[in-house]
Amino acid sequence: MKAQWGWVHENYVGILTGSPFEPYQRTEANIPLKKIELLAPVKPTKIIAVGRNYPEHAQEQQAEIPDRPLLFLKPPSSVIGPGETILLPPQSNQVEYEAELAVVIGKRGRWIDINKIDEYILGYCIANDVTARDIQNSDGQWTRAKGFDTFCPLGPWIETNLDPSDILITSRLNDQIRQMTSTREMVFNIPQLVVYISSIMTLEPGDVILSGTPAGVGGLGPGDTILISIEGIGELANGVAEDSRLRV
Ligand code: ZN
Repeated sequence: MKAQWGWVHENYVGILTGSPFEPYQRTEANIPLKKIELLAPVKPTKIIAVGRNYPEHAQEQQAEIPDRPLLFLKPPSSVIGPGETILLPPQSNQVEYEAELAVVIGKRGRWIDINKIDEYILGYCIANDVTARDIQNSDGQWTRAKGFDTFCPLGPWIETNLDPSDILITSRLNDQIRQMTSTREMVFNIPQLVVYISSIMTLEPGDVILSGTPAGVGGLGPGDTILISIEGIGELANGVAEDSRLRV
């Protein structure tokens, strides 16, 4: 089966002619959602993530709340889609989930004006900023800890009609609630983040901003399932396994 862009209406999907980053048309939504495999909803040229953007998460990491957004990058190679497996690398003994609201950029922008923010945002999806916490602490800088393959589940789709200012983010590890916080608790809100990041680097269509995780992060082990839900978007579930491909 070939990969195609689609649009979701209730429990049905219609094909898009073209992509959401160029002029497109919607065909009738008549394919049952259950019959298709959802891939990661976007292939970003870069993923910009924000550290310690919820006060209670900064506190649980014994870290200060930053006075400006604390940015880091995750590589595009870390992206996986809904239902794909998060692989635990042999270099870490402490891999953790981080439920986050992700912004998907729709139009190239630099020095984006806060009053024109909506023109540049295509929509929102769910992200899991999977992190090797032991490596994050020992390396000091975060590229390795945040950058392993499979460490950026994205999905289930891009919600294009959403006010992100006060929506609930919930994560469940094997059906047990671990995180539950509204986005209104963010230190820097979505418009502030987009303006700040675009004052540094050009945002390209499809680029993704991970807006930080609330308190309640914790470890993942083989056989676990981590399910993140965000109000107004949906659910993203991923299983967890050891990366046995690397073990000889
Ligand atoms: Zn994070």
